[in-house]
Amino acid sequence: MIAVALPDAADFDAWRTEARRLIGARTPPEAIAWRGKAAPDLFGEALGAAAPEATAYASRAFIEVARKAALHRDEGRFALLYRVLWRLQTTRNLMEDAADADVAQLNALAKAVRRDEHKMHAFVRFKEIETPAGPRFVAWFEPQHHILRESADFFVRRFTGMAWSILTPEESAHWDGAALSFGPGGTRADAPMDDARDEDWRVYYQNMFNPARLKVAAMTREMPKFYWKNLPEAQDMQGLIRAASTRAQDMVIAAPTEPRKRAGAAHARIMPETLAPALEGVAQQASPPNTIDELNKALGACRGCTLWSCATQAVAGEGPLDQPRLALVGEQPGDQEDLAGKPFVGPAGQVLDRALAAAGIARAETYVTNAVKHFKHEARGKRRLHKRPDPGEIEKCRWWVTNEIRLVRPKLVVALGATALQSLTKHKGSLESARDADLTTREGAALRATVHPSYILRLPDAAAQRQAFDRFVEDLRAATIAAAGDSSGSSPRVRSRD
Ligand code: URA
Repeated sequence: MIAVALPDAADFDAWRTEARRLIGARTPPEAIAWRGKAAPDLFGEALGAAAPEATAYASRAFIEVARKAALHRDEGRFALLYRVLWRLQTTRNLMEDAADADVAQLNALAKAVRRDEHKMHAFVRFKEIETPAGPRFVAWFEPQHHILRESADFFVRRFTGMAWSILTPEESAHWDGAALSFGPGGTRADAPMDDARDEDWRVYYQNMFNPARLKVAAMTREMPKFYWKNLPEAQDMQGLIRAASTRAQDMVIAAPTEPRKRAGAAHARIMPETLAPALEGVAQQASPPNTIDELNKALGACRGCTLWSCATQAVAGEGPLDQPRLALVGEQPGDQEDLAGKPFVGPAGQVLDRALAAAGIARAETYVTNAVKHFKHEARGKRRLHKRPDPGEIEKCRWWVTNEIRLVRPKLVVALGATALQSLTKHKGSLESARDADLTTREGAALRATVHPSYILRLPDAAAQRQAFDRFVEDLRAATIAAAGDSSGSSPRVRSRD
């Protein structure tokens, strides 16, 4: 029996070198005892005892899967890898046989590792500490497999601008803004305990938790219980699940939102499309308004398209009127905005408020408005379900938002979502392709684009919501820095996990 010890628990490259030599020496799998971790001298002996390095056939599919499977905690993984490699020498298409027991096992190990990596990307929670060298963000995480080194690159890319450490029981990773290093493992007590942001996350999660949509199995699949102990928002999970059926029932029983009755609303519901052109221009005057007050008065009488007919009122913009740093432009008022007559006061507004706070932006100093001024919806029983405005409606409403921007003169306009982007710019690509780009409105004002806060609400699980929310905050922070004329555009990423 040949004992082969690898220098590291998850060193695929060392295994590969050893495996090539052993294949070259025609050493069958049953003659080898693989060990995951060795003292350096033992490793040296094992290398010396093997045959000179030879080439072994390994398909690309095998290497890809084997690299991941090598990170699994299963003690038999290196033996399995070698067994498959050995068989590949005579059966070159072995990896295509998914029903083969060895191949199936290899695939299962790789899948579990990928899943663990995915969970690590989503569930690492940094906490800020002060050090003599400045702030450092430290996280405690317990991966199920040996994935820290493999995952570290993700965090380097994601949090390039901040100094961080991730501590795990096995090993720790440290990034100082320029270099990545690894050190010994630690314990949970080595990482800082709760900080103020944990509470923010708990409140956020409680607010975003929709009991009517609760599917416990799906939720625990996305956020497995194994990871709950280190997630601030998961501390409330059991209670939220228990309370869910009562809360969902309350939502059903609660009175539906009833639009306030106003003159015209009843007949307007059935106003024929053909009447709309005749009413066009009633409010959009030939000479543009000189003040926001004038503009808003005219807005109340807008009949530029048929949307006014089913809405309670036109919803005007809100915020400082003299060159605010940012003007945020959403899509259209929602149910609650339609009733309140104010932009972003409903669920999307809550996400927006949270994101602004996390980005250090005062909403009161920000002008907030919409690309389309009336709530487009369809009635479903007593509920009013949001409908996306069509290109014609966006086009008709552009006059209002363009004039608002002209009068308010923000330093930078932020398009929240595809509708605002379409309304304000000539950008032809996707919203994603517009993110991170310095754009301008059709009239030449500086503009940046990001997602609409409702997009975050629609994501199916907390991990995805959190990632999207972090990126949204980064976009807002980058926008406010760009608006201030600050060239340090990379710094927004520094605190991006607020
Ligand atoms: N969505 C928007 O786009 N605007 C609002 O005001 C509310 C929700």
